[in-house]
Amino acid sequence: MASSLIRGKHLICAITDDDQAEIIEDGALFQRDGQIIEVGRYDKLSQRVQPDAVLGDGSHIVVPGFVNAHHHLGITPIQLGCPDVPLELWIPHRLAARSVDPYLDTLYSAFEMIESGITTAQHINSLFFGPVEPCAQVAEAVLRAYRDIGMRVSYSFMMHDQNHLVYEADDQFVARLPPALGRRMAEFFHALELPVADQLKLFEELHQRHQQEPLIRIQLAPGNLHWSSDELLEMFADISTRFAVPMHMHLVETPYQKEYARRRTGTTAVHYLHRHKLLSDKMTLGHGVWLTDDDIDILADTHTHVCHCPSSNLRLRSGIAPLNRLTARGIDVAIGIDEAGINDDRDMLQEMRLMLNLHREPGLEHAVPSPERVFRMATEHGAKTTPFGSQIGTLKPGKAADVVLIRWQQVAGPYMDTDVPVTRAMLHRAKSSGIDTVIVAGDPIYRDGHFMKIDKEAVVRELAESLQVPLTAGEAHRRNIAGELHHHVDAFYRGYLHSDVRKPYYQRNSSV
Ligand SMILES: [Zn+2]
Repeated sequence: MASSLIRGKHLICAITDDDQAEIIEDGALFQRDGQIIEVGRYDKLSQRVQPDAVLGDGSHIVVPGFVNAHHHLGITPIQLGCPDVPLELWIPHRLAARSVDPYLDTLYSAFEMIESGITTAQHINSLFFGPVEPCAQVAEAVLRAYRDIGMRVSYSFMMHDQNHLVYEADDQFVARLPPALGRRMAEFFHALELPVADQLKLFEELHQRHQQEPLIRIQLAPGNLHWSSDELLEMFADISTRFAVPMHMHLVETPYQKEYARRRTGTTAVHYLHRHKLLSDKMTLGHGVWLTDDDIDILADTHTHVCHCPSSNLRLRSGIAPLNRLTARGIDVAIGIDEAGINDDRDMLQEMRLMLNLHREPGLEHAVPSPERVFRMATEHGAKTTPFGSQIGTLKPGKAADVVLIRWQQVAGPYMDTDVPVTRAMLHRAKSSGIDTVIVAGDPIYRDGHFMKIDKEAVVRELAESLQVPLTAGEAHRRNIAGELHHHVDAFYRGYLHSDVRKPYYQRNSSV
């Protein structure tokens, strides 16, 4: 529909302060061709404009669509047989996971995201390996899935050139292995080689092919520090400037990664990236759990963003990111569900609630996240980590009409004190089952439990059937290798941590 009037009981336009939201009661927004033209009271707007359709009957909370600022895949690692273990041991487990059709897989998680009010995904494809053509096909299949379901996506794939299994060079790790396994691993690594020139070409082609599509943007995802040589780091700053694209880089997710940075650089990963001119408002650090106070100062000074992934960090025993210290320094923090949340799905409302409660440090002196702050993280701050930037994240004239209608009765029934601010009520009580309508660029893509452009049941059935086949020879080979590798990877990290690796803030002054 070219134009519509979207009506709500409470229209949350934007967050204005840590405990303030701009809300229009009995409000509406008028959008034309995907752009918000006007917001105001429904009774006044409805007299002035002639929309093609009216969405909502005045019983909903109307909010900007949420941004999942760190997303990878559909069928979850647990579903694929990969247990929740520390990240460094999880990598070989992931090696054993079978291949899933990328189009169906992307739709599978898109269903969950949209059902919880997410309209934009920061989709970061994990490392690509092997010949470039199949990698390009995967990227295209992922983008086609978002296009078909009608969701907005910022797409990237992680670029890399070293240390693919543990935090040292592949050939050094191979030399640690018993000779027979070492030979198989050497062959394995060789078969997976994907030269940086090919990765760069793939980025350029995707960028050129899709940059003009209204709901797709291509950006950069430098691999984590251990996956990137100095030459590659230097290239990232250059490409980001040349193509004017933001970057999203996994960094200091675990204490082992912090120690890796110390061994390689003699300083912290953040200092090192700063030295390579990679930190600015164009960079988002994914996870950022093991940051020092100095690091946080640098991030604040350079206006670098952080994407906090609380569920993932808990599940893989990575730690808890220092959100309160980051926000105290004015750093914009986005929310990422990463592989999957606590319920092993992609539920933004639950992830927001976890964010709200995880950082409630004892003591009146501590400023802890407010519902308004978490709401802003899931909308405006998430938006800033994507190339869509200030185009999305609030409901203001000129912004894209990415809008979610949540049933107020589900949040407020059977009783809600009228003094409770709407945003607070929503953060504490909204559930996916209360999401009524999801609109992207003015186009309703989900209404009353149904996807408007894709047959969810058929897709899920096809996905299930696609996995009801025996392992391929390649999958069986990977599974065998992963099984044999496990205790060698475990041995590599035993005793790896330097004794000075600082405890996270929540363990300070504690005897445990
Ligand atoms: Zn990730």
